[in-house]
Parts: sequence; C-alpha cells; structure tokens
Amino acid sequence: MVEITEKFFARQMLAVNLKKCKALRLLPVKGKRTLKVSSDPMLWKGEQLPMVKSIDDFISYLGVKVSVTGKVIWSVDQLRLWLDRVMKAPLKPDQKIKGIKEVLIGRLTYQLRLSEARVCELRRVTRMVRKACKQILHMQLGAPNAWAHLPLRKCGLGLPDFELTIPLMRRAACEKMKSSPDPVVANISEKIPIYESGLTRGLDVRAAKRAIQDKYEQAYLSTQRGKLMNARWISAVKPYWLHGGTGVVKAGEYVSINKLVTRTIETRQFIHPGVTDFETLKCRRCGKAVETDLHVLNECPFTRLAQCRRHNFIADYLGKVLVDHGWEVWRERLVKKDLENFKPDLICRKGAEGAIIDVTVPYESNEAVLQSKERFKEANMQV
Ligand SMILES: [Zn+2]
Repeated sequence: MVEITEKFFARQMLAVNLKKCKALRLLPVKGKRTLKVSSDPMLWKGEQLPMVKSIDDFISYLGVKVSVTGKVIWSVDQLRLWLDRVMKAPLKPDQKIKGIKEVLIGRLTYQLRLSEARVCELRRVTRMVRKACKQILHMQLGAPNAWAHLPLRKCGLGLPDFELTIPLMRRAACEKMKSSPDPVVANISEKIPIYESGLTRGLDVRAAKRAIQDKYEQAYLSTQRGKLMNARWISAVKPYWLHGGTGVVKAGEYVSINKLVTRTIETRQFIHPGVTDFETLKCRRCGKAVETDLHVLNECPFTRLAQCRRHNFIADYLGKVLVDHGWEVWRERLVKKDLENFKPDLICRKGAEGAIIDVTVPYESNEAVLQSKERFKEANMQV
C-alpha cells in the first residue's frame, strides 16, 4: 500500500512523510466474523511505522481530525463549544464578531468542505452561527436572517450560508480535479457526490456566488423591516464604520448601528407590534407623537440638540474636505434675495465654479425633504 501511495505522490512531485503516516493492521478474530486492530509494529524500509491503536483512533491533518476509515470527524457539539467560548470571552461585541468571521468560520468552512455533512446539517450550522452573532449584538432574534448574509458593503453582517457555499466549494474542487492530467485524481473526482441547491446548479462558480448574493438582497428587501429600507440607500451607503469596528466607532455604537440597519431599535412601536393605542405607543420623552425611530432621530424636541450637533458636524466635515481640495468655503453666510433671507450651510468657490450646499439628514426614503432643498439651492444659484 505504501509503495502504491509513494508512486502516486512521486507523480505529483510529492513524497511520503513516514513520521506522519499511521499503519493499520486488521486481524480476523477466530470463530467470529469480525476484525480486530493489531498493534504489532510494522516495518517499512527499515523504519517502524506509527500504528493505529484502535478503530476509534484518528489522524490529525491540518487541524482536522480524520478517522481511520477516511471520514472527517466533525460534530455540532464542537461548534457549540467554539461559539460558547467566543460568546463568553472578555471581548467587545465587534471583536467577537470579527473573531467568529475570521477564525471560527475559516476553520468551520475547511472542515465542512472536507466532511460529508449533509444539507440539513449545513443548515443547522448556519442557523447556530447566525443566532450567536445576533445574541452578541443584543439583537432581537426576529431581526431578518437575510441581513446576516448580506455582504458588509451592503450593511449586512457578511456571514456565509453554508448550505449554499459548501456544496459550491466542493463542486469547484471537483471540477479542478477532473481537469487533472493524473487519471487517479480525475477518477476520484467522479466518485464524490455533490448535492447542490437549485439556485446554484449549472452556474459557474462566479455566477453562482452572485446568485447567492442577489437572493439575500431580494430576501432582505422583501422582509417587513427590509421593505422600509430603500434599495437605493443600501447600494449608496459605504459603511466604513462597520469595517473599522471599535477603531472607528465605540462598541456600544457598533451595536446601535447594526440595530439601526436592521430596524430593530427598541422603540415603543417596535416593542408593541400591532398595537394601535396611542397611550401605549407615545414617545417616552415628549409624549406628543408615536415613538418610532424616525421620531427619535429626526423629530423629537428632546433630541433637537443632538440633531443640531449632527447637522453641524456634517457641514463642518464637508467644509474641511472642500478646503483640502482647494475650494474657498464660507460657512453660514447670510444671502439676501428679493425680500427673503437665506443662510446656506456652505458657499464654496473654486475658480469660475461655485456651489451652494445645504446639509440635511433625511430619513430613509423621505424624498420630499430632498426635493424642497434642491429647489432652494437652484434659487440661490441664480444670485
Ligand atoms: Zn418625542
């Protein structure tokens, strides 16, 4: 057996490392129709081979346990242990998420790809990882699942859906093996069964990946919370604050941002779905309107100061960027036109070009605000 293996490896320009081999010797048991494992030493080329001691023994290969029958040893309990360890670690939420995404998922993907885990198991793994991430972010478990699988640049969490990605990886590996000049490798690839979902079947790998992404974007936008989220908004926003983690935003802010994106902030309207009674839903601060995230962020008189600060921060920041790019900038200068007074946030000039900028923080698809501001801008451009 070792000779055959050595010949095969020689063709691939590889060699056998005897120290890492394990020899298995099976002996028939007298009077019974079973086999037992013998641990008598075996010699090859004058060297003793390490022996397999029992049938439950395993070989460790790149951190993956492989049983003596050639199957990858993998269990959900192992994953549960890993997730528990991450969740109990003294880390900040975004660090935990980063740990899951960069370490745990990498290991898991590698094991699952080599294992014979079936679709239902893969689905279970996806669900467990997703649930853990939501718990880390103090998020309601009712937050849309599709959001967790959206890529980071679309404000999602960027978790893989193993049910779709693992069969795709297995198929890609098989296709690579099929085109191998070695007949043995090509032969093995024929024998690997692949159960692929209808979504990715028949597509090449890149198209399949895109199909998976599109599926989740569609799924997210069709959920009750996703519907509120403008499709254009999702594609327009570049969420640098989600990439940076705690380096850019504080841990608490990171949690809030993710809640905002999924629209699961615990406003009264969110806590009491389906309730129409105003007394239950009214704002806990001003009590004049229904407590929605729109009210808290943009309308409530109690947050007016914070709203002003946000507006000024954006205007100042924009002004600074323009100055860096060689523009002349005037901040909040009074402009008189006819009998009206205007006080735009920024007036800027560069050579013959000029622009008047007024900053507003509109909420989601509140385009009426944008339009009225545009008209105002046009009126000023004629001055
Ligand atoms: Zn209020």
